[in-house]
Amino acid sequence: MVGFGFDVHRLEEGRRLVLGGVEIPSPHGTVAHSDGDVVLHALVDALLGALALGDIGEHFPDTDPEWKGAASSQFVDHAVNLVREQGCEIVNVDCTLVLESPKILPYKQAMRERIAEMCGLALYRVSVKATTSERMGYVGRREGVHAFVICEVREA
Ligand code: MG
Repeated sequence: MVGFGFDVHRLEEGRRLVLGGVEIPSPHGTVAHSDGDVVLHALVDALLGALALGDIGEHFPDTDPEWKGAASSQFVDHAVNLVREQGCEIVNVDCTLVLESPKILPYKQAMRERIAEMCGLALYRVSVKATTSERMGYVGRREGVHAFVICEVREA
């Protein structure tokens, strides 16, 4: 089964920027109820989507004080457990991050390692790619960040 996830968060000056479980030094970060990690949020939706288990908002409502400032790795742990409870295992995950700045290249390997660890996968099964929006639109104006994740899940 294939699952797809998408997420977007607004960027503001003086906020933390956490992407793929890695804190990235930046003058602007994401505005969110949790830590605002768009990559992990899209990953959760991809995992849930593969097994038609709903979406991240159903599992972790942003009105719930329990998730205020929460590390998004908790959401991934929950989704990975659900996949296992269904008798399935993750085959691979492929993430694409779209943001204008800062440059993500120096952090990609660390993101892959964090995601591989959370999903219980070998590193070669986790891909992290990044691109800009060529200065167009709200991502191009540094007002927001996008992430897309696709994953394959199979019966274990
Ligand atoms: Mg989100």
